[in-house]
Amino acid sequence: MLSGKTALVTGSTSGIGLGIARALAAQGANIVFNGFGDAAQIEQLHTGVAKEFGVRTAYSGADMSKPEQIEEMMRMAAAQFGGVDILVNNAGIQHVSNVEDFPVEKWDAIIAINLTSAFHTTRLALPWMKQKNWGRIVNLASVHGLVGSAGKSAYVAAKHGLVGFTKVTALENAHSGVTCNAICPGWVLTPLVQKQVDDRAARDGIPMEAAKKALLAEKQPSGEFVTPEELGALAVFFCSPAADQVRGVAWNMDGGWAAQ
Ligand code: NAD
Repeated sequence: MLSGKTALVTGSTSGIGLGIARALAAQGANIVFNGFGDAAQIEQLHTGVAKEFGVRTAYSGADMSKPEQIEEMMRMAAAQFGGVDILVNNAGIQHVSNVEDFPVEKWDAIIAINLTSAFHTTRLALPWMKQKNWGRIVNLASVHGLVGSAGKSAYVAAKHGLVGFTKVTALENAHSGVTCNAICPGWVLTPLVQKQVDDRAARDGIPMEAAKKALLAEKQPSGEFVTPEELGALAVFFCSPAADQVRGVAWNMDGGWAAQ
């Protein structure tokens, strides 16, 4: 379905971004990977995806908190693939602390990576998409783009901001073939959440499995984690012709979290 298209997925060396990159590659899209990690492992990861799905892949190590590195990544995508047809703004970090104790540099980093980077990639990708009159922008917000949780001020502010940015981008391009939508996952067991599981296990002196159950029980009625594969399937739907008129939605896949 997506052969001949190129998808850039920020933060795709791990977790949800990797799941979405694999799902798009399975549909035939070329992939520009981005994110941090061991250089040799990343090389293996993206060449492995290229081989497995018969697509072309590339990698940019651009830091999403640095606008000039984002610009360089977009120039690389243009040089190698002639632009980006599908943009998945997924890179994100978390820090948990009450507002009065929240480290200022963590606040700035979360807003830069989880929100502002999407502005930069989007402003740079839109001219290519408009030229072809086809484009898909998928923003990885969170259920925290719809509701709040104590201790997550920067993250909740950034994700609510990303949902707002999604709506405006969708509206500005509503008369074109370019759509913009947000995905709002509940708990997904990735390194970002594993840290919160570890912190809970240490704080309460409970085993890891009990800490996972406790996290889920608090917020996610299904009692089960959402998976990167399920989120990948939703991203593929947003890229399909059936979603041509899906514009500006914030679609939660959260085991019932936001229905409460
Ligand atoms: P993860 O930690 O597994 O992956 C994050 C990715 O972002 C990695 O590839 C990492 O290298 C990359 N990254 C981090 N900082 C970066 C930077 N400055 N520049 C470039 N890349 C950077 O996390 P995840 O759980 O897969 O999260 C992916 C997205 O999904 C995030 O935006 C997160 O907020 C969102 N999300 C996660 C959950 C969850 O439960 N895991 C729930 C809702 C939303």
